[in-house]
Amino acid sequence: PPINSILRQPPPPLPLMSSLTTRHVAVIGAGAAGLVAARELRREGHHVVVFERAEQVGGTWVYTPERESDPLGVDPKRRVVHSSLYDSLRTNLPRECMGVRDYPFERREGKERDPRRFPGHREVLMYLQDFAAHFGIGEVVRLQTEVVFAGLGEEGKWRVRSRPSNHNRMRSDDDDGDCVDEIYDALVVCNGHYVQPRIADNIPGITAWPGKQIHSHNYRTPEPFQDQVVVLIGGAASAVDISRDIATVAKEVHIADRSLNENAIGKLPGHDNMWLHSMIDNVHEDGRVVFHDGDAVGADIIVHCTGYKYDFPFLEANGEVNVDDNRVGPLYKHVFPPALAPWLSFVGLPWKVVPFPMFELQTKWIAGALSNRLPLPSKEEMTQDTEAFYSSLEASGTPKRYTHNMANYQWDYDNWIADQCGIPGVEEWRVEMYKFASKNKRLRPESYRDEWDDNELVLEAQRDFNKYLN
Ligand code: FAD
Repeated sequence: PPINSILRQPPPPLPLMSSLTTRHVAVIGAGAAGLVAARELRREGHHVVVFERAEQVGGTWVYTPERESDPLGVDPKRRVVHSSLYDSLRTNLPRECMGVRDYPFERREGKERDPRRFPGHREVLMYLQDFAAHFGIGEVVRLQTEVVFAGLGEEGKWRVRSRPSNHNRMRSDDDDGDCVDEIYDALVVCNGHYVQPRIADNIPGITAWPGKQIHSHNYRTPEPFQDQVVVLIGGAASAVDISRDIATVAKEVHIADRSLNENAIGKLPGHDNMWLHSMIDNVHEDGRVVFHDGDAVGADIIVHCTGYKYDFPFLEANGEVNVDDNRVGPLYKHVFPPALAPWLSFVGLPWKVVPFPMFELQTKWIAGALSNRLPLPSKEEMTQDTEAFYSSLEASGTPKRYTHNMANYQWDYDNWIADQCGIPGVEEWRVEMYKFASKNKRLRPESYRDEWDDNELVLEAQRDFNKYLN
């Protein structure tokens, strides 16, 4: 029967969990999450295929000077560029804190290598390449292979349809000619979530405003902003970096930040061409941008550093998991849809986290659940837990789109998963180092990557790393 008629029917009963079992698992994406997933799944004895549409592993960390045909990233027909990196990007976490727990992100010798504690993006890519080589992951990665469809089929198995990636293919192209269908027991989704731009709510007057607009996803270098008056919307990490990068060549940079403390409005200390404002109120045909605080500037360009949307264009999960106002749900602990656990899982959805160690814990849990070594609660219990979590967000007035924001509890989350896996929780030094780095970033936003006071913690981390390096 045609694939769609199979897929629209309710899923048949899932295989019974009995003894430790090896599964055939498809991992979608060979960024950091997919690489770590592949390692953990193989350690557990599963058969793994990692699908990666790019020419190399590394995901976001594969920098490209290319921009999308629509700089705002809203045209559904645009050709999608995966990476959101800008050329000058250095990590915003110290490397010791950022690395995978048992594969430390140590300084490496070599003329290509970047020994800095907060290295440039190329060093992170090399670290991920080292990781993949060390654990022999290359042999299970299918490069230049895009998953165009993954859906539940007969007997609760997943049908994964892939095709060779075509660099020039538009997002809406639907040519099934060279597709291959395969069947897997389980699907682990690691497709990244810094690809589909979110744009600030409709700005009154924007359709008649004559300037240019770009989303930070398509920002690479400051040169195009030479002598321009730039308004940049956002207050998160990339807004901070990109505004400073642009200010090196622009005439003026005005940052519109809706979460800004009123006292901070005005000229940015230490800069002669940067100003902080409240959010944009409206814009005009004559080029003016008016802020809520009453200030106005005639601007040439608006840069939207307003974040991203989760997007799983290939996934057909019988409606058991959806994206609603940027909540991917229902998901038990941000990983498993209760109705399809453990056969469908998502790695890396939480944000405001230290990602690589979290990927490691999430994927150990997934691998163990798939082999029956780490039993999950019943579907009803997972559903209840998830509903209670969503109710607590609602009760505290947290919008749905902040569901995966872990600012206040990432360590509790990590430690909870570590407990499920029966392994030690997050290292004390890592927690402390993260606190230090966050505080340092607030105190020295211009120089936190080169000046710090936590050398004791660096030594402690290195003592810990010796366990893995010797
Ligand atoms: P990605 O790296 O995005 O990988 C997803 C992969 O899936 C890609 O290779 C993509 O090609 C592939 N893919 C997607 N769809 C398909 C498909 N249909 N078929 C086949 N393949 C597919 N983290 C830090 O730890 N430190 C930092 O300093 C830091 N800075 C950051 C700065 C920026 C600007 C951004 C955007 C992110 C930053 N991060 C940082 C977070 C970063 O996202 C994570 O470190 C990590 O790279 C995420 O890995 P991932 O595997 O989840 O996603």
